[in-house]
Amino acid sequence: MARYIKDAQFYNKLASHLSKNMSTSTINVPRSGNPQFWIVADMDETLISKRTRNIPESPCFPWLTKWLQEGHGLLVNTSDDGRRPFRIWKQLHDHLVQSSQNSLYRLDQILFSTGEGAALWRMEDQQQRHHCVYEGGEIRFVAYPGYERSMVAKCWQEKREVLEFGKQMWVDFVKSSIVPPNSLNNVITPESSYGEEYRQIVIDLYTQLMAPTEDNSPLIDSVTLDDLSLDRRESSFTNHKAQFFDKENQMIVNGVTKEKIRKLVSQLHGPILWMNQSGDVDQHWRDDPFEPEAEWTNMFVMNCPRQLNTMVVERSNAKLKNTNSDRGNCLIASDAPRSICIRRALSTKDRPVRFLMKHQLINRGFMFGDNPDGNDKQLKELGDEYQEELPFYAVQNAEHTSTFLKTIIEEILGCR
Ligand SMILES: [Mg+2]
Repeated sequence: MARYIKDAQFYNKLASHLSKNMSTSTINVPRSGNPQFWIVADMDETLISKRTRNIPESPCFPWLTKWLQEGHGLLVNTSDDGRRPFRIWKQLHDHLVQSSQNSLYRLDQILFSTGEGAALWRMEDQQQRHHCVYEGGEIRFVAYPGYERSMVAKCWQEKREVLEFGKQMWVDFVKSSIVPPNSLNNVITPESSYGEEYRQIVIDLYTQLMAPTEDNSPLIDSVTLDDLSLDRRESSFTNHKAQFFDKENQMIVNGVTKEKIRKLVSQLHGPILWMNQSGDVDQHWRDDPFEPEAEWTNMFVMNCPRQLNTMVVERSNAKLKNTNSDRGNCLIASDAPRSICIRRALSTKDRPVRFLMKHQLINRGFMFGDNPDGNDKQLKELGDEYQEELPFYAVQNAEHTSTFLKTIIEEILGCR
């Protein structure tokens, strides 16, 4: 079965959607009240390439802005959190403010859900108004009232639990990816390791970690969270964190003490364990991720490409299933193209959409995601459930999405 929707399927689905939802193909958008149609879209590789820093560079940008300028809604639904989603949101906001002096742009037209449904955000102005025509001034991002957040870790105990879970998965990945021999060469590609220059570093790192040491056990067996002194109180740990964190306060690697390994790790594009702190970095970021106020939305185990990480994810989740009594809130892993995402079972991308549908904010629209078998799976399932109101379209990349957005905007808005 084709993974991505074929253009013909899209047009058929769109035609059916349009005929059942409106009397004519051109609708009048109300200038008050909720946006009438919504685009619900995954962010990376759906609305914007992961390697692209700024949303104006995305092929979707002109269509998104047109959509918003016409008064419709956009819910960006991403596994990411922190710097990147909120930077993109600010860029969209700034553009909408600058591009039309007499704009009727309202702050409630754009929402973001981060951490795979862990959190839902909205924008407010200085007067703490959300449902308003934007009149200038400072804006801030606040948690959507009534939405139950599901952080992967808040307190010290949860943070330790998540780190340990991530470390175990990483060790499992390294061990399984080295067998059969040379499989790393096939799996660690420039695409899976942030380019050719990192590819060899990742391969060297994993090869070194599996090389036998004097006592014949691989070096990876010596990787331990205890090396981070996690049993000590937070203050002690904070004093030691400089050894283990890079400039952005992301953990580099747990407890690997051999100089050669450290050197290899330090050359990686980013850390092995990447904790996403919840919310806009300018408002919610904590320098020390172990501060009680620093909430982790999710954690990514980096440099674990999909071809081999699926087995690791399945093994870990099966183990959890047998051991965890609190299934609703247990830790869970999902495979991403280059990494493994660790989150709470409660965090799924359909959750914010269902919440907004329940509150009658989202009634009709279109959903897009590039990963229908992975972290966009729940969006796809939601789309199957609401085929008429909110169909899901699997896309290959932002370029592909832009062609569909163009069709929707031309057909719905009558903009040509
Ligand atoms: Mg994606």
